[in-house]
Amino acid sequence: MADQFDTNRPLRVAVIGAGPSGIYAAEALIKQSEVPVLVDVFDRLPTPFGLVRYGVAPDHQTIKSVTKVMQKVLQDPKVRFFGHVAFGRDLTRADLRRYYDAAVYTVGASSDRHLNIPGEDLAGSLSATEFVAWYNGHPDYKDLPIRLDVRGVAVVGVGNVAVDVSRILAKSAEELRLTDIADHALPVLAQSQVTDIYMLGRRGPAQAKFTTKELRELGELLNADVVVRPEELELDEKSAAAIAGDPGLLKNIEVLREFASRPLTGKPRRVHIRFWVSPVAILGNGRVERVRLERNRLDENLNAVGTGVYEELEVGMVLRSVGYRGVPLPGVPFDERRGIIPNQGGRVLREGQVAPGEYTAGWIKRGPTGVIGTNKADAAETIKRLLEDAPGLPRALEPDPGAIPRLLKERGVRFVTLAEWLRLDALECAQGQAQGRPRVKLTSVEAMLQALAD
Ligand code: NAP
Repeated sequence: MADQFDTNRPLRVAVIGAGPSGIYAAEALIKQSEVPVLVDVFDRLPTPFGLVRYGVAPDHQTIKSVTKVMQKVLQDPKVRFFGHVAFGRDLTRADLRRYYDAAVYTVGASSDRHLNIPGEDLAGSLSATEFVAWYNGHPDYKDLPIRLDVRGVAVVGVGNVAVDVSRILAKSAEELRLTDIADHALPVLAQSQVTDIYMLGRRGPAQAKFTTKELRELGELLNADVVVRPEELELDEKSAAAIAGDPGLLKNIEVLREFASRPLTGKPRRVHIRFWVSPVAILGNGRVERVRLERNRLDENLNAVGTGVYEELEVGMVLRSVGYRGVPLPGVPFDERRGIIPNQGGRVLREGQVAPGEYTAGWIKRGPTGVIGTNKADAAETIKRLLEDAPGLPRALEPDPGAIPRLLKERGVRFVTLAEWLRLDALECAQGQAQGRPRVKLTSVEAMLQALAD
């Protein structure tokens, strides 16, 4: 029964990952009043908010305002934040069993999918997710050797991440200077020689994944013309039927048609939105010099199939933007094919059976789809199940809240508390204010810990 837990012995839940899905999971736990809870949210970085901090584009500050609500969740007395604690190294699955009644894995999808074509390993070929993490100041990617002394860039994929990286590449340094873009990225972007950015869709415009709002922004760039080939917007019967029933797709096609009707206005850069092409090889002598594309058509299942007609694009960089991918956590089941933790509505499955006390939410539960808000309903579903299961969960051996900081200290883990994160946040914002920017990010863990020691 739910009343097994009380304020002296609340349900102890560990949330692994302080991105949107982790924080929404914590929020769902504290918003209910049936079961008293105490939630510990862990993150391997000293900073919370995951992809809101390190994924959302620096010129999309309004989206980042969601952190205000997220911060409130972390400030709730029923929630504690432990930053800079790596699951599997500083805290293990066995620890979770000992100290918590339930664990929720919300680690997102930190890797990316590959194209599996020749030349993918050449210098200048990398994933959009790495490029995004670099310009957003993620500590793991600050030293990525990004060279923009090239004229053409191919961005493979036509989802919102492809739109983000194309837009950032197309903008002038003046447009980016007043954002929270990483300080190491701005000079590289300011000296960029890029003139032509090619977004490459392997299927047609009716199958593109970008949303209309994001697509429209490509047509409003101060520094770049948008280029669409009218002949690539022609729709086959099935695609025409698909868009007829989908207002979002209809709007996309309308916007693309309007783009296709525009003349070039002589802006310094161009964003080309291409359809019906798949990269089949990346070519170059040590570095990317060209990409070979095969023209596609759709089969009866709306999959892209090659036609044996090829073209080549001169580009010095290829950013594959074909989706994020989850990575396994030590001691936690993983579905290699789908890149997720196997689960049933958020209940983790071990060898096909529900694992008592283990849950998951967000991208590592369902795959890398949806916007930030999608994770709210997703986390709520998981927490609903967790609370249903709560009465029968195997109880933690050491539920005392003091045991966790003691354990981490014994192990020499320099964890970052919420009060410390708030200090870092204030410091970043103050530095930003001095420059008329939302914040200046600290981009290494050492710099963050040093700032806390000062
Ligand atoms: P996505 O929306 O799944 O798009 C992936 C793109 O890659 C699709 O166009 C897909 O084409 C293509 N692709 C996959 N494999 C390919 C291959 N082998 N060769 C060529 N193309 C391939 O993923 P995403 O752009 O990474 O975005 C992830 C999620 O974050 C999405 O839900 C997105 O909306 C969200 N997001 C939102 C925003 C925002 O709201 N501003 C910003 C960024 C991200 P097919 O359809 O043919 O597979």
